[in-house]
Amino acid sequence: MPGFELFGELEKQEVNDVLDNGVLMRYGFDGMRKGHWKAKALESELQNTFQSKHVQLVSSGTAAVSVALGSAGVGAGDEVIMPTFTFVASFEAIMMLGAIPVLADIDDTLGLNPEAVEAAITPKTKAIMVVQMCGSMANMDALKAIAEKHNLLLVEDACQAIGGTFNGQPLGSVGDLGCFSFDFVKTITCGEGGAVITNNEKYYTNADHYSDHGHDHVGSDRGAETHPFLGYNFRISELHAAVGLAQVKRLPEFLDIQRRNFNIIREALSTIPEVVFRTVPEGGVESCAFLNFFLPDLETSRKVIEAFKNGGVDACWNYFDNNWHYIRKWDHLKNLKSLFPISKEVKEGLEYLQTRTFEKSDHYISRNISCLIKLSWTEEEVKQRANKMAELIKSVL
Ligand SMILES: *Cc1c(COP(=O)(O)O)cnc(C)c1O
Repeated sequence: MPGFELFGELEKQEVNDVLDNGVLMRYGFDGMRKGHWKAKALESELQNTFQSKHVQLVSSGTAAVSVALGSAGVGAGDEVIMPTFTFVASFEAIMMLGAIPVLADIDDTLGLNPEAVEAAITPKTKAIMVVQMCGSMANMDALKAIAEKHNLLLVEDACQAIGGTFNGQPLGSVGDLGCFSFDFVKTITCGEGGAVITNNEKYYTNADHYSDHGHDHVGSDRGAETHPFLGYNFRISELHAAVGLAQVKRLPEFLDIQRRNFNIIREALSTIPEVVFRTVPEGGVESCAFLNFFLPDLETSRKVIEAFKNGGVDACWNYFDNNWHYIRKWDHLKNLKSLFPISKEVKEGLEYLQTRTFEKSDHYISRNISCLIKLSWTEEEVKQRANKMAELIKSVL
């Protein structure tokens, strides 16, 4: 997945354009910047990549989720349904707005289970946040239908699924708003950065203002701009955008390599009857950033991970034992370990985490193995790796 594996001349050239004129800020300084608008240029490239009318760059993927939700009016006391398997950024971004993360089980897509989502809806629910984990997607037809039926926002965190599609549409563009991260380990990297995409003009204008202190961005004199509403600073810098601009131009090349490597490994593992690949919903095409499969039980998965480690196969995980991605290890959320006081509403809203269990999620995550697909492997290296993986899995079974 990581675009940084293939840094080259183009990245340096784009960054040098910025350093040559010294304007590191994305807004203003029109005269000094000699026509270089890297953030604007990247937004325009991403409109094409994600087939979305509007793109707002921000400082991170976490910021993108907060800005997306905030721009659509989600705030204090609102409930946002999110999956148990994701990255900690999901609940962080919700709680930053004073809203309440309501965790729901996943299914064999490794995304939100539509039945669990429907069961989690209350009068306070404002949004369903789908997280397209590990290069693939949740059952979007069912989730879209639920969102429409209950008049809820559908927000897509597609940070790990750049290049995946559903019914021909880029992931991230299926819901009302989509969020992307360009942090150091994502398919396209800016170093740090993120984006909100939407076809809704109002949400976009809100995101544009909100991510820059509420500035209205009217006219060319930044000092004369007014503040229609409160905002924060989630701006991306020109330096970061410059790196992203080089990377997005290379995205088709990255995705081709990713798919080639993915297919070689998938084919080698498909000869093992105990290996069951994750379900990809009908109409879905994976980005191939990760290869995910299930083994018969947790014990076997743990043994395979151990065998991979000892056998020199890196970058594969069982997320049941992972601190960042699964509810099981989120004690800081369950015990609300906050540096500063948290509102009574959010505290009460999170009490369910003391007793709620997530057996369905445990069932899938405990048996899952997720392998990162790297871009820097040669075809020969992938073939050797694929054979080694198959051999190690068989040795455990
Ligand atoms: C990386 C990631 C984020 C957060 O992105 P940052 O840019 O690191 O803040 C959010 N959600 C998911 C699923 C991610 O993988």
